[in-house]
Amino acid sequence: MRIVIKVGTSTLAHATGRLNIRRTTELCQVISDLKNAGHEIILVSSGAIGMGVGKLGLKEKPTDIPTKQAAAAIGQCELMYTYDRLFTQYNHTVAQILLTGSDFSAEDRHENFNNTLSRLLQLGVLPIINENDTIATEEIKVGDNDTLSALVAASVKAQLLVILSDVDGLYSADPHKNTDATLVERVHGMPEEVFAMAGGKGSALGTGGMRTKLNAAKICVENGCDMVIANGEKTERLYDIVGGVGGGYHGFLQSLDRFWI
Ligand code: GLU
Repeated sequence: MRIVIKVGTSTLAHATGRLNIRRTTELCQVISDLKNAGHEIILVSSGAIGMGVGKLGLKEKPTDIPTKQAAAAIGQCELMYTYDRLFTQYNHTVAQILLTGSDFSAEDRHENFNNTLSRLLQLGVLPIINENDTIATEEIKVGDNDTLSALVAASVKAQLLVILSDVDGLYSADPHKNTDATLVERVHGMPEEVFAMAGGKGSALGTGGMRTKLNAAKICVENGCDMVIANGEKTERLYDIVGGVGGGYHGFLQSLDRFWI
């Protein structure tokens, strides 16, 4: 199975911005094991800006663009160094690919990306993708890695996209405001009501990034790819998700007419 796994900064780092060693180590172990079992994995990883902030010892995430892009340049090295070290322990080779939105719209660059990625997978390498934050500007950037991971999944015709996040999945209402809110296990198709569940700007779910995950789901639906949201605290659930074992994990899985949340 060809699988894209997207991991967010909240899974890779503590609230302090420093690396969450236990979780990152577990993630690399499970991904290595899935590769050993014969799956083709592509990792879309955030964390460049967060790690740059940590490495520079800044008190908070910078708001000005040059410092943010400088932090990304520093953090991307740290991120890949961390992955390289951890995956090497399991005899896996990693490769870095940095993309922006225009790499999907410019036909020749898009084709080059697909060719390189296919070759890396043939070579048994683990491609690790992030947005090229050091050069991305408002006009050309994808903007968030949920969308980027869905664009990658669609582009390489992956069967499954797993988004590892700090939430269990989509709730029927804002769980911070509504104690009756329940986790939606599955969604069939991509009905408009699903977007309503994510809440507007300012709601816990909206600010928690559910909207970008639903946008990613939409791209997956249109391209016949399943999608699951799972809590990155429990990376071993990847075994069940990839094995297609229903229940016991929360995420959403979607194909033309299958969409589990
Ligand atoms: N590309 C950003 C980073 O590496 C993260 C963007 C996102 O998480 O959506 O810090």
